[in-house]
Amino acid sequence: MITNDLPRHRLGFFPTPLQELPRLSARLGGPRLFIKRDDQTGLATGGNKTRKLEFLVGDALAKGCDTLITGGAMQSNHSRQTAAAAAACGMECHLALGGAAPREPGGNVLLDLLLGAKIHWCGDRTKGEDIPEIAKTLIAAGRRPYVVPYGGSNAIGAAGFAAALAELKEQAEAADVRFSHIVFASSSGGTQAGLVAGNEALGLGATIHGIGIDKWEGKTEDFAATVLDLTNDLADLAHLDHRFSAAEIRIDQRFTGGGYGIVGDLEREAIRLLAAGEGILLDPVYTGRAFGGMLELIREGALTSADTVLFWHTGGTPALFAYARDLLA
Ligand SMILES: *Cc1c(COP(=O)(O)O)cnc(C)c1O
Repeated sequence: MITNDLPRHRLGFFPTPLQELPRLSARLGGPRLFIKRDDQTGLATGGNKTRKLEFLVGDALAKGCDTLITGGAMQSNHSRQTAAAAAACGMECHLALGGAAPREPGGNVLLDLLLGAKIHWCGDRTKGEDIPEIAKTLIAAGRRPYVVPYGGSNAIGAAGFAAALAELKEQAEAADVRFSHIVFASSSGGTQAGLVAGNEALGLGATIHGIGIDKWEGKTEDFAATVLDLTNDLADLAHLDHRFSAAEIRIDQRFTGGGYGIVGDLEREAIRLLAAGEGILLDPVYTGRAFGGMLELIREGALTSADTVLFWHTGGTPALFAYARDLLA
C-alpha cells in the first residue's frame, strides 16, 4: 500500500467490522447497503480520527515529541481521540476548545477530562486558533509539543484513510462485494482525501461521495479546493503517480441545515431510524447528517437498487449525551 513506508503507531483495533443492513435496504427499497463501523475503532469510544492519529502519533514519536496539542469545537471528537492517543502513549495532551468551561461537563468534554487532557477554553475561536500560543508556552517550559492539525487533516493524517481503503478492499473481496459508492461525513477533509487517494491507488472504482457538514458561508468551492489540495499533498507524500483534479472531489453541500452542530429533522430522523431500526448509534453532528443525506440521495433516485453502497460510520457517539434536548425534541 502507498502508506506502508510512513511511521505508524498502533492505537486502534483493526479491521473494524463491515456489516450489511439487508432489512434497512428492503425497507428503503433502495441499494444494497453496508456500514463500515469506525465507531468501533476501540480508542476511547472510537471514531475516524483513530486512523489519522496512528500516522500523526507515529510522526510525533519519530520526532521525539512528548506532548500533543490540538483543538476544535467543544464537542470535538477529534480532540477526545487525541487525548486518548496521548494517554495511550504516555504523552501529555493540551486541547484548545471552543466555548467556556461548562458547569456540568458532558459528552466528549467529560471524556477529555477523564483522559487527563488539559483544556484551554477559547470562546468563539473553535478551530484551534490559540494553538501557536499554547505551543510557545509549552516549549518555554521545556516540553516538546507536536501540533496535531485541525481534524487531524494534513497529508500524514489523511494517509490513515488511504490505508483504511486497503483494509476495506480485503473485506470486500472476502465478502464478494464491489461498492459502487462510499458515502460519509466530510468536514476537515482528511477522511475524503485519504479515501479518494486510496480508491485511485487500489483501483477500487467506487464513487467517493462526501456529505458536507459545515456551511463554509456560501463558499463551497473553497472546501472542495481544500480537499483537492490535501489529496494531492497525500499523493506527493505517498509517491502516488497521479495528480487529482477537481472532478474527482465530490462533496454534497445540500444537507448543512442550520449549520455545524445544529440538529434538525434530517439528523433526528436518521439517528432514530438506525437506532430503533438496527440498534446502531449515529452521532448528532456528523454521521446523523451524513446518513440523513444518504437517505435523501436514495429518495431522489441518485442511489438505486442497482447500486451497492457503503456508509462509512466515522464515530462521534459520545456527543449524543450532550444533545439529549435536541434529539428528543
Ligand atoms: C471529524 C469527524 C468527521 C469528519 O472527518 P474529516 O476527516 O474531518 O472530514 C466525520 N465524523 C465524525 C464523527 C468526526 O468526528
